[in-house]
Amino acid sequence: MANERTLIKTRVGIVGGGPAGLMLSHLLSHSGIENLVVEMRDHETIRNTHRAGILEAQAVKMLTDSGINGRVLTHGDEHSGIDLRFNGESHPLDFTDLVDATVTLYAQNEVFVDLAAARERDGGDVRYGAEVTAVFDMETDTPKFHFTDAQGQAFEVHCDILVGADGSRSFCRRAIPEDKRENYTVKYPFAWFGILAEAPKSSAELIYANSPHGFALISQRSESVQRMYFQCDPNEDTSSWDDDRIWAELQRRVDGPDGFELKRGRIFDKSVLPFRSFVREPLSHGRLYLVGDAGHTVPPTGAKGLNLAFADVKVLFEAIDSYYSTRGIALLEGYSDTALKRVWKAQNFSYWMTTMLHTPPNADPFQLKRAIGELETVVNSRYGQQYLAESYTGWPHS
Ligand SMILES: Cc1cc2nc3c(=O)[nH]c(=O)nc-3n(C[C@H](O)[C@H](O)[C@H](O)COP(=O)(O)OP(=O)(O)OC[C@H]3O[C@@H](n4cnc5c(N)ncnc54)[C@H](O)[C@@H]3O)c2cc1C
Repeated sequence: MANERTLIKTRVGIVGGGPAGLMLSHLLSHSGIENLVVEMRDHETIRNTHRAGILEAQAVKMLTDSGINGRVLTHGDEHSGIDLRFNGESHPLDFTDLVDATVTLYAQNEVFVDLAAARERDGGDVRYGAEVTAVFDMETDTPKFHFTDAQGQAFEVHCDILVGADGSRSFCRRAIPEDKRENYTVKYPFAWFGILAEAPKSSAELIYANSPHGFALISQRSESVQRMYFQCDPNEDTSSWDDDRIWAELQRRVDGPDGFELKRGRIFDKSVLPFRSFVREPLSHGRLYLVGDAGHTVPPTGAKGLNLAFADVKVLFEAIDSYYSTRGIALLEGYSDTALKRVWKAQNFSYWMTTMLHTPPNADPFQLKRAIGELETVVNSRYGQQYLAESYTGWPHS
């Protein structure tokens, strides 16, 4: 069987061409470290998948300073705060005033377009439409994997370092023997109903709304396209929701004495997004290293997923770079512990935002009132606001 496969030798083999895989590939190539990215989906499908939108300043810096391009600065929308809304009242948090930091609204599709274009421009080896079907020999100096490309040709890749950047259902993660891994998981009894609508902005800043009917997030994509979410049952069926019903549900979650009204328009995308908190420890096994969603996922409430993926990549890139320049393995051996420190801070923040802002199904009056008490504690204290602002805009990269 192995005879029928074409052999490829490279230094770093990367499974997954999402933001984590492509960013790592870009940084490695700039340091002259040969690498190969194998991505299951085609370019067009990834470009049209709507996911993250909020980039921490450090993620923006990784895009601009590493020479990808400056489109995030010209096409991204810098935001200096959010509104927390509860009891029908908005409470603006000004991140610039609180922690001297901002975030940038720039859709993950655009991040992908930029990374993919930079890989193509720089002659990077990225195989789209190619699925990795086996990962082995991770405990040796030459980890290996099999993939079949879009034309049906089979390959065996030999590398020095294997990176699992293959997202939340990671094939690489599952290849680690069970007795060498620990999983930490929290499931939530709710999901997000997400829409994209052709409508003007309803608000200058993102609104995170707590209401007795459940959470809602009012966010933006551009002057004419808006992204909004409301808390729903994980088994909700989008086909039973027409535009009028969706707008009415969103509106009742932001209703208040100030008469705030959402600006409506045609809804052209609807989806239900279940989520969980998940961490795999350690983030490495032998010569296999997990980055981004392959190693951990967070609920989207804290807007941390893509940012964490980039933070992992920065730590791993520095470790691999040090390995090839000095042959020292200390940074590679420390990768998991270093990355996990930030991961657990982000898990804590995302869990906190999620439980504070969502209303559990069948919540009793005590739970509803306690959540309001928690929100009041945050908005009425500069320290509380600063805690949220510092975590949301992101801690310095290690
Ligand atoms: C609705 C929603 C909103 C979000 N909002 C935010 C936000 O505002 N801010 C934020 O920071 N994060 C957000 N996130 C999270 C963010 O989208 C993810 O954390 C991010 O995509 C992680 O990047 P990644 O490269 O690790 O994984 P992915 O983007 O999942 O990429 C993994 C890639 O690996 C490929 N792959 C998988 N298996 C194989 C295989 N066997 N062979 C080859 N390729 C394979 C997949 O096709 C995929 O392209 C959101 C997520 C969702 C769903």
